[in-house]
Amino acid sequence: MKPVIALVGRPNVGKSTLFNRLTRTRDALVADFPGLTRDRKYGDGRMGDRPYIVVDTGGIGESEEGIDRPMTDQALLAVGEADAVLFLVDGRAGLTAADQQVASELRKLPKPVFLVVNKTDGLDPDSAMADFYALGLTQVLPIAAAHGRGVRALMEEVLAVF
Ligand code: GDP
Ligand code: MG
Repeated sequence: MKPVIALVGRPNVGKSTLFNRLTRTRDALVADFPGLTRDRKYGDGRMGDRPYIVVDTGGIGESEEGIDRPMTDQALLAVGEADAVLFLVDGRAGLTAADQQVASELRKLPKPVFLVVNKTDGLDPDSAMADFYALGLTQVLPIAAAHGRGVRALMEEVLAVF
């Protein structure tokens, strides 16, 4: 079974950058997975002999995110069909109100949620992560999606669950 891993988080945190790195593409095709709708972007990836499917929730509707509506419909659908959720935040911008609202939705889920602190290039990862422990998610991992730092360690943690 290939675990389905959803990438969620507010706009500009680096979801698509991580998607491209996890699928080793610049812009993966919208794959033809029966039963899954097409307003989210699906890609195949693997680490060693462990295949997975990644779902990028960027694009359509991103601008709808806001105070009253922390997650878009497509993000909620992606989360619903995922086996694990990677919740990305921006380690440079620090914790935002939108992050807190998304976290409060995700904490209710009966599935693994990983808090991924992106853009830690040039930062001390421990201090970049410090603010975000307030979100109440226990698994917190630092990465720099644009450079690949921490991505293997992240995926080892994620894939160890399955
Ligand atoms: P999305 O809206 O969440 O899909 O975010 P994108 O993947 O489109 O990235 C938003 C911006 O953040 C782009 O300018 C990326 O180049 C930049 N970015 C993504 N990952 C990193 C990173 O690891 N470090 C830095 N410094 N910038 C990043
Ligand atoms: Mg995007």
